[in-house]
Amino acid sequence: MSNDKREDEKLGMGVAMTRRDFLNSALLGSGVALLGAACPAHVLAQAAPVGGDAAKAFNGYGGIGDYAQANGNTYAVVQSAHKIRDGIYQAAPPHPEDTGEAYDLVIVGGGLTGLMAAHQYAKLSGGGRKVLILDNHPIFGGEARQNDFLVDGVHLIGPQGSNDFYPPEPGSGVVDEFFTDFAIPREYSLQDWDASLKPLRFSQDNYSNMDGFQEDMVDVAYYFGEKDGAKTPGWQLNIWSDQLARTPFGEAERRDLLRWRADVGHSGQDDPRFLDTITYQHYLEVVKGYDPQVTRFAQPMVGLLGGVSADAVSARVGHGLVTSAGPGERHLTMSYPGGNATFARYLMSGLVPGSMGADTSFAGILSGKVNFALLDRPGQPTRVRLGATVIQVAHEQLAGQGETVGVVYEKGGNTYRLRARAVVMASGGWVNKHVLADLPDAIRQAYGEFSYAPALIANVAVRHWRFLYRLGAPAVRWMDDGTLFGFAANIRRNIVAPGHQPPLHPDRPALLTFYMGLYTPGYDAHTQGVLGRTRLLATSYAQYERQIRMQMAQMFAGTGFDPARDIAGIVLNRWGHARVIQPPGFYYGRDGKPPAREVVAKGYGRIIIAHSELNGAQNYRGAFEHGARAAREALKLTA
Ligand SMILES: Cc1cc2nc3c(=O)[nH]c(=O)nc-3n(C[C@H](O)[C@H](O)[C@H](O)COP(=O)(O)OP(=O)(O)OC[C@H]3O[C@@H](n4cnc5c(N)ncnc54)[C@H](O)[C@@H]3O)c2cc1C
Repeated sequence: MSNDKREDEKLGMGVAMTRRDFLNSALLGSGVALLGAACPAHVLAQAAPVGGDAAKAFNGYGGIGDYAQANGNTYAVVQSAHKIRDGIYQAAPPHPEDTGEAYDLVIVGGGLTGLMAAHQYAKLSGGGRKVLILDNHPIFGGEARQNDFLVDGVHLIGPQGSNDFYPPEPGSGVVDEFFTDFAIPREYSLQDWDASLKPLRFSQDNYSNMDGFQEDMVDVAYYFGEKDGAKTPGWQLNIWSDQLARTPFGEAERRDLLRWRADVGHSGQDDPRFLDTITYQHYLEVVKGYDPQVTRFAQPMVGLLGGVSADAVSARVGHGLVTSAGPGERHLTMSYPGGNATFARYLMSGLVPGSMGADTSFAGILSGKVNFALLDRPGQPTRVRLGATVIQVAHEQLAGQGETVGVVYEKGGNTYRLRARAVVMASGGWVNKHVLADLPDAIRQAYGEFSYAPALIANVAVRHWRFLYRLGAPAVRWMDDGTLFGFAANIRRNIVAPGHQPPLHPDRPALLTFYMGLYTPGYDAHTQGVLGRTRLLATSYAQYERQIRMQMAQMFAGTGFDPARDIAGIVLNRWGHARVIQPPGFYYGRDGKPPAREVVAKGYGRIIIAHSELNGAQNYRGAFEHGARAAREALKLTA
């Protein structure tokens, strides 16, 4: 048996290493090589084994249930999106079949924005209007989807992307209205923790453990390797509790990390308009005069949530990510087992009654099976067409009908055309600028200021997590230097409901969730987005799987962890455009000009543009706000 094979067996890999995997590893090392390889078809081909099934090599294992074929941006979705981007349809215009359908409103994109737009439109119009939602994935939800696993008889659910939320205060706006409309609970039961076990403190989401400031609420173990200056690589629990004394950081580094941490409770003192004129690195190292170790410590989180490294992101963003409150002031955010997929499922249950099953209580929404057959039936007020990629949207004049909007989409290899009195583009700027054929110059130029960064979320199902219990922490963090898989992972204390009661016990299955940014310090924001996305798309599932298994084997050596025995399954969720990147000036505008995001939000004619990135930082709240705005504008256009 070859060494590679033996190594794979030890790691529990199902797939043998191929020559292509080796080539990809070499490619990963060089930013310049990646830029040269940025043609999408070429990049995607890198992830495929020679002569093998490209889609399988890219998507990998998808879990079980309704989301099994929809983990992140799948191969098919990426391919059709890139056909739009590369002008394939324009070069060889399709001759779409006219479906003869005419809608009051067509919504492009079935994510939280599009679903909220449909919900609010139905509500405001009294429910009698004809609406169609078109989405290119096999299931609705956009970035708010989930992964399901069945491990040793336990059903585990994890987030694919969108994750945390706060139950809203009454009267606090669109989120509160949504909770009221669907009778969504504001208080939840959590998994029990056996009192005879060590008293571990868990986060309820996958973020609270990341920034190092929640140690008074979450137990976090930090891994320091030789590269981090540790004499003996290993774990240190709750490093802030004794002023970083057990870390390998030097004296000045420790002093400044502590100053930084003490400062963060006073973020309100910094003028956000000033912060939006400088990078976060400039703020940390020049304005505050901190040691560069502070930048390094913050970087992985900034790279995940801001999309790019601290030397490219606006200080307003970087600062906001790590300083929303000081130590002890921040409440733990919550997340549903499948993250904000639950919100999408609630919305769908209202738009298409019965689509989530008969039980629309929290338990029913959480565990119900999607009835896909109900989504696109003629005659119902709101129809939802999945696996449908919109390729062209433009105003048109129809004899006797005045102005309408023509929508062309591809589904199952065929192209179709239909009409609407108004269209909401809830699909994201990177798509809209290619699809909107009559986009005015001002909006086209404004979209030119939008760049996007990717993210990768891995849910690793483990048969037990005694190895973490031994460390005394359900959350772990390491000092990513750009070569590691992610920088943090954790097991949550989950919300439970009748019908979904997975145990929380170190000897029982659980999901270890990794959130990972793909940033490249030293490059401008746009280039970092391209490099990260190229890396994300050019890396096969098998390569990522091997990296995760090797890294876990190495870091958890000595804790009893065995990757081949203990890992039950890994699902990767790739998001090519997870974040709009906010370099200095993105939020408030530059050179006295209005911010590009405000120009885009104006829309034009019968086309409304609404997606969560128009708020800068993306979250469910922004998605709901823009969805509700889109519904109000659509109502006016279709009065
Ligand atoms: C990794 C990650 C983690 C996140 N974590 C959180 C979090 O913890 N909390 C939080 O509040 N928010 C989080 N967010 C952000 C939040 O999920 C988003 O802001 C929100 O879900 C976006 O909703 P949207 O409808 O605007 O866009 P999307 O969810 O992107 O929905 C747009 C939909 O349109 C589809 N589409 C695109 N092009 C076409 C086309 N041509 N034809 C048809 N359909 C098309 C897309 O595939 C997608 O399904 C996270 C996002 C990511 C990626």
